[in-house]
Amino acid sequence: MKIDYLRVSVTDRCNLRCVYCHPLCGCDFIERKEVLRLEEIYRIVRLFVECGIRKVRLTGGEPLVRKNIVYLVKKLAGIEEIEELTLTTNGIFLESLAAELKNAGLQRVNISVDSAENQSYKEITGFDLLPRVTKGIYKALEVGLKPVKINSVIIKGINVSQILPLAQMSVYLPVVVRFIEYCPTSKYTKPASDYVPTSEVREIIESKFGPLSTMLTGANNGPALYFRIKNSAGTIGFISGRSSTFCRSCNRLRLTSDGKLMPCLYSAHTYDLKRLIRSRAGDHQMRDLLNSIISEKGSFTKLNSFKEEFSMCRVGG
Ligand code: SAM
Repeated sequence: MKIDYLRVSVTDRCNLRCVYCHPLCGCDFIERKEVLRLEEIYRIVRLFVECGIRKVRLTGGEPLVRKNIVYLVKKLAGIEEIEELTLTTNGIFLESLAAELKNAGLQRVNISVDSAENQSYKEITGFDLLPRVTKGIYKALEVGLKPVKINSVIIKGINVSQILPLAQMSVYLPVVVRFIEYCPTSKYTKPASDYVPTSEVREIIESKFGPLSTMLTGANNGPALYFRIKNSAGTIGFISGRSSTFCRSCNRLRLTSDGKLMPCLYSAHTYDLKRLIRSRAGDHQMRDLLNSIISEKGSFTKLNSFKEEFSMCRVGG
C-alpha cells in the first residue's frame, strides 16, 4: 500500500461539544505553547510531501477556529506535489470562510452533521446551530468545494432516528452522506455497545428508500463504500471502522495538534515530531525519520495494536 495521505489536526479546540467526541466533561485543552505553530505544520507537511505524501486533510478540533487557517491553506496549496488538499469541519464558520478557503486553494470539504433536526442536533453538539451549518453546506456547494461530504456518526439512543432524514439529504442535494460507525475513545464518551453497525443503518435506509444501487466504484474511495438511493442527486457512503477491518488498505498517517505522528489510529505508538523540530532537527534528519515511519506503517494493524483512551479532537478523526 502506498502511504500518501496525511491528516493534520491543526487545533484541539472546538466550538461544539459533541457527546461522542468532545463532551462537556473530562476534556483538557492542551496548553497553547504545546500546539504546533503554523510554520511548524507547514514544515512537517512539506517534509512529508518530500517523502511521498500527496493528500493532506486539515482537521481538528475545529480547524476553522484556528487563527490564520486560510493562510495555512494558502501556504500548503503552494506545495505543488500535493494533489488533494481538503478539510473536515463542523461547518459553523463555513458560510463566512468557504469562498476564502476555495480561493486559497482548498479543494473540498467534509462537514460533520449528525442530525437533520434542530433539537436533536442541539442535544448531540450542545449548540442550536444546525441552521448555520446548513448555510455552510449550501455555501460550500456554491463556491465549488466539491464533492461536499456529510459525515454522520450514528449512536444508539442518540440519533438512530436521524438516519432517514440524513439519507434523504442525499436525495435532494448533490452531496455524499456518509454514515460512520462510532468508535469509543474514552470513559467520558459513549460506551462501545452504543455503536450501530453499518448493516443496521443500511437496513433502515433500504426499508424506506428501497434497495441501494450496486456499489459505486471510483478512485480514492479510501475506507468508505458508496451507493446511491434511486433517483437521488447525491450518494450514500458507509465507513465501517468497527464491524470491518481495512488495515491493509489504510494509507493514512495522522499528525496530532500537539505534534505527535500516529501511524495507526488504534496504536498507542506515536512519534514526537514537535520535540524534534523544536530541538532544531535538520531537514535531513527529519526526512530519515518520516521515511522510516512510512515504511513501518504496514506493521501496525487494528488487530495487533491497542490503545486504552485517546482524544479524538487532538487526533482529528
Ligand atoms: N470539528 C471537525 C468536525 O466536526 O468535523 C473536525 C474534527 S472531528 C474529530 C473529525 C471527524 O471525526 C468527524 O467527522 C467526526 O464525526 C468524527 N468523529 C469524532 N469522534 C468520533 C468517534 N468517536 N467515532 C467516530 N467518528 C468520530
